[in-house]
Amino acid sequence: MSVLVTGGAGYIGSHMVLGLLDRGEEVVVLDNLSTGFDFCIASQAHFVQGDIGDTALVARLLKEHKVTAIAHFAASLLVAESVREPLTYYANNTARTRDLIEVALRADVPHFLFSSTAAVYGMAGDKPVQENAPLNPLSPYGRSKLMSEHMLADVSEAHGLAYAALRYFNVAGADPQGRSGESTFNSTHLVKIAMETVLGKRPGMQIFGTDYPTPDGTAIRDYIHVTDLIAAHMAALDYLRAGKGNLTANVGYGRGFSVRQVLDVVEQATGLPLNVAEGPRRAGDPASIVADSGYLRQATGWEPQYDDLPAIAEHAFAWEQYLSRRNR
Ligand code: UDP
Repeated sequence: MSVLVTGGAGYIGSHMVLGLLDRGEEVVVLDNLSTGFDFCIASQAHFVQGDIGDTALVARLLKEHKVTAIAHFAASLLVAESVREPLTYYANNTARTRDLIEVALRADVPHFLFSSTAAVYGMAGDKPVQENAPLNPLSPYGRSKLMSEHMLADVSEAHGLAYAALRYFNVAGADPQGRSGESTFNSTHLVKIAMETVLGKRPGMQIFGTDYPTPDGTAIRDYIHVTDLIAAHMAALDYLRAGKGNLTANVGYGRGFSVRQVLDVVEQATGLPLNVAEGPRRAGDPASIVADSGYLRQATGWEPQYDDLPAIAEHAFAWEQYLSRRNR
């Protein structure tokens, strides 16, 4: 019995692999290394380099490794890129997910964990957003993920596949033991960019928008430690395995920090000054989006351990220093 992790060499997928191995599960990783890195794959996992669109390969892996759950992370995830290249996003995120679900059904895999996103909501107002809020994604990225949620719901209804779609808010930080972190070269994530900037990998960075209707004028997000996000996946997997049905749930802490607050914490946690300029708003960014994760807590018993922005920054910094030592 094993769990197939697609995109297991990527930022979140690699932490999922660690989380599964830490609790004694057998893990098969399928990743095409388009943005992931082989050094992020934990050595006890069985790694296969390949594409989730290669349905014959996926079918063989499911059979050979007696896969009973798929955790599907392989995806394209840059909002701005999705606006420029929508068909890439509908291919990589929607069409490939469709094919993966079909192969899973044929192989009688009972459980499916899907990486969804807060981007399915679009503009959310200033209250923590609940799962039943209107779904009006602002980008092809958000729509490509929402379409996959719809497919899972329809397939579950028709064929009985049990699935969890977790809507991630702003994932940040790194494994507290320093075994993985965000390694992507072209990351657009605030904490990652700030870490690269304090370490001189970037000459400087910008705050995208200082005229939002927020207390300090910068945008507010719900930053969640990647290890807590993975704990949510474990709780969701247990929920599916216990036969409790499907789960569509937000994963965040229910409190927001502004861009300026995040950058202040980065300076404090690293002890290094940040070269920051004020710039215009980034297209498609909502002013504020914060999760109401009450449903996830109540349904699965998930309890986060790292709801602490300085800890998130410290762990991200330790990983960024490790990458520097590897000349990355
Ligand atoms: N942001 C910023 N400068 C950067 C990168 C991000 O001001 O160099 C802001 C961005 O506009 C947003 C917040 O930081 O308000 C979080 O952005 P990120 O890309 O990390 O996540 P998103 O909310 O887009 O998923």
